[in-house]
Amino acid sequence: MHRHLISLAILAYAGVTALPVHANHLTLTTPSEVTTQLPRTAKPVHYEVLIVPDAKNGTFSAKTTIYIEVLQKTMDITLNAADLEFNRVSLFSDNAKSQHASIIINPERQTASFHFARQIIPGKYKLTMEYKGKIGSQAAGLFALDYDTKEGKQRALFTQFENSEARRMIPSWDEPNYKASFQLSAIVPADHMAVSNMPINSVGKTVNGKKRVSFATTPTMSSYLLFFGLGDFERATTKLDNTELGVITKRGSLEQARFALDSSKDILREYNDYFGIKYPLPKLDNIAAPGQSQFFEAMENWGSIFTFEFGLLNNPAISTARDQENIFSTEAHEMAHQWFGNLVTMQWWDDLWLNEGFASWMESRMTDRLHPEWNTGLSAVEKRNLAMRTDAISTTHPIVQHVSTVEQASQAFDNITYMKGEAIIRMLEAYVGEDAWRNGVRSYLAKHAYGNTVTTDLWVEIEQAAQKPLTDIANDFTLQPGIPLIRLDSVVCENQQSQITLSQSEFNIDTENKKPLTWRVPVTLQVLGNDQKTKVVVEGGKAQLQLDGCGPVLLNAGQSGYFRSSYDTQAFNNLSHSFTQLATIDQLGLLADTWALAFNGHQSFSDFMDIADALPLSADPKVWSQITQVFSEIHTNYANQPERQQQFAQYAIKRLKPKLDLISWTPAENEHHAIAELREQLILSLSEFNDTETIAEAHRLYDAQNKHVATIPPELNMVILSVVAYHANSESWEELHRQAMAETSPMIKDHLYQLLAIGKDQFNAQKALKLAISDEPNKTISAGMISAVAKAYPDAAFDFALANLDTVSTLVDETSRSRYLPQLAMGSSDPTMINKLADYAQQHLTPESRKEADAAIAQINLRLLYRERNLKKIDAWLAAHT
Ligand SMILES: [Zn+2]
Repeated sequence: MHRHLISLAILAYAGVTALPVHANHLTLTTPSEVTTQLPRTAKPVHYEVLIVPDAKNGTFSAKTTIYIEVLQKTMDITLNAADLEFNRVSLFSDNAKSQHASIIINPERQTASFHFARQIIPGKYKLTMEYKGKIGSQAAGLFALDYDTKEGKQRALFTQFENSEARRMIPSWDEPNYKASFQLSAIVPADHMAVSNMPINSVGKTVNGKKRVSFATTPTMSSYLLFFGLGDFERATTKLDNTELGVITKRGSLEQARFALDSSKDILREYNDYFGIKYPLPKLDNIAAPGQSQFFEAMENWGSIFTFEFGLLNNPAISTARDQENIFSTEAHEMAHQWFGNLVTMQWWDDLWLNEGFASWMESRMTDRLHPEWNTGLSAVEKRNLAMRTDAISTTHPIVQHVSTVEQASQAFDNITYMKGEAIIRMLEAYVGEDAWRNGVRSYLAKHAYGNTVTTDLWVEIEQAAQKPLTDIANDFTLQPGIPLIRLDSVVCENQQSQITLSQSEFNIDTENKKPLTWRVPVTLQVLGNDQKTKVVVEGGKAQLQLDGCGPVLLNAGQSGYFRSSYDTQAFNNLSHSFTQLATIDQLGLLADTWALAFNGHQSFSDFMDIADALPLSADPKVWSQITQVFSEIHTNYANQPERQQQFAQYAIKRLKPKLDLISWTPAENEHHAIAELREQLILSLSEFNDTETIAEAHRLYDAQNKHVATIPPELNMVILSVVAYHANSESWEELHRQAMAETSPMIKDHLYQLLAIGKDQFNAQKALKLAISDEPNKTISAGMISAVAKAYPDAAFDFALANLDTVSTLVDETSRSRYLPQLAMGSSDPTMINKLADYAQQHLTPESRKEADAAIAQINLRLLYRERNLKKIDAWLAAHT
């Protein structure tokens, strides 16, 4: 699954990104005892499902037959079912004897138990169930998405089953370890396209303008990977080897999926080679759906990837360079899952990172490899930084964590699982070498194909391929939470050799006096001016080594290590004076570490500000981008202190404006993606800093477009609208509102509604909140609108959502509910929010579902603890430099 990360247009106004964090506890299950919430008396082998959706009325009826194996004598068969109404359940034995069940539903545990009068002895059986269910309006189970067309409203149906929602459509052993094959059929309108994991086997006519579609049987797989889609769709295909690759969109949008289709061919070719196992299904579709989810952007259903339109379609009216990169990397992520996750699946959600950490790493690797001109390799530092922001707080958790409930499984889809997972794989790959890593991955997949695994299964194969110990290092980073801090204790130069001493402690920001954990940390060092890099493993907290040459010493050269780097004043000054000689990725790494260490007082803010102040205009766009982001964060932290905020804004404008002038508002032909992205970011940040010239220019272009005297280049469209929306007064808000209502492209329409919620005017913010829960916007955008208001007004958004909790809950997908309100509150700087949030958790969340609320409280506490102290230091720096 690809998580939904809020778009940059919104993010820029958020300053510091609110991040989910989690409590820390760990008990590993032994491989023989796979966690299950079902009795171990029976298991499924094959499902035959016939579904008859009634899209108009939001219901469906179905008949499912499961071929099962009963493993122990029993009177009952229990499986997962949620919101299903059973008519008839029967069990058939081999000799065709049948018996009917009495049915007990447990809504809390999401199970149905079928009780039989005669004891069932171990053996093979057929379980047949006739039942009815609901079609939802949010992405969980079988759900509907409505959208406008020139001919009126249309409704399409899709499914979303990860992590535990297959049970909303199919009574099933809905846990990843219960793999089985599936044969799906559906009775659907004759003029609609039905899509599932496998190609269509047969189509038959039925009555009343309907057809019966039967799909080929899937390979053995987990229930969360099943997919069904239905609507007025179009499909385009291409072929690679024996695989048919397809994109499916609503009628009229197919051309916009061209880039995704072409890319899928390049990606498949690479993966077939990398994994050493050819993609095993006859076809692989990628289906674009209008709308969005608070939880995810795309889902890796085997053979039928589901992606919300904004992650798959290139809309020429608004798409930017960043959108194109996102389309490619999302696709690369979901396609990596076809092997890592679908062919080999984690046994239980404890090891979710095997899916998500790996797919995230592969997505980055593939994007960098097939599109080196985008220079996305540099994003590694940014992603590691996002992981570390979560990992530096005491509410973090190890990558491998024990999950006991469905709710906890949903909460496991977080920055630690995705981004720390990715960073650790990058580090371990660098440690054993690319070839050994790939060979290990190949044998892991070959050995466990169609099966389930735990993390250790991967280490065994990599270690074998590398002929080098890896498990201890890997365990240190996956079974322990937190971040090592590597310090360069001393450098002594003798006879053109640098004698170096390193030590390891722990980097955290809210537990000063904690005894540091120890890790075995692979560290790469470099003496500047010498291309040679030296690798060492810091063990037991210390290391000593000798490097050729003398000069500034860089820790974590190439930035593959997962740790923060710290230097004494002299060593830091040596490095920062040579800043422009560092590789770009090391410039980004040094800035990230310096900023993080300054935040909790371990380094001076001046160290960061001095580098930012001296950064030459010729520096890499990604470095400028990082400086812009930090300035935005500082600016947000000055909220409610207008004079001090303005003082900082003046400095930031003076520093950033010349860079925007240099790259100009007009995109050059074939310009580098990083420049296009930086332009967008500079415009948004300067607008946020209230730079009158930037705001005026955006308004001038917007007016000219409205009066048809000029056209905005499409790639600037959204950014200009964002500036207009951010500064909107009552009148211009209404104008945008009219535009949103009139728009017929679902993707642009959703964007416009979202923009109505980002404004800094508090009356407009209140209007946006009311609009969000009205019937007007599409049902999947409402939650996103309230979240957008929360960027500027976290307290108001939280209060509003709490006051309208019943309505708001229906607008958030099932899997995101327990984290939704805590995330709204997370940006608050008001001490009273801590109690409000604790009360909310107490009243509305079960004890197992309070991690997100605890994490949000920790974030607010941290902000209150550090804000004033840190802002004073920035004030002092400004006073000395302006
Ligand atoms: Zn994923």
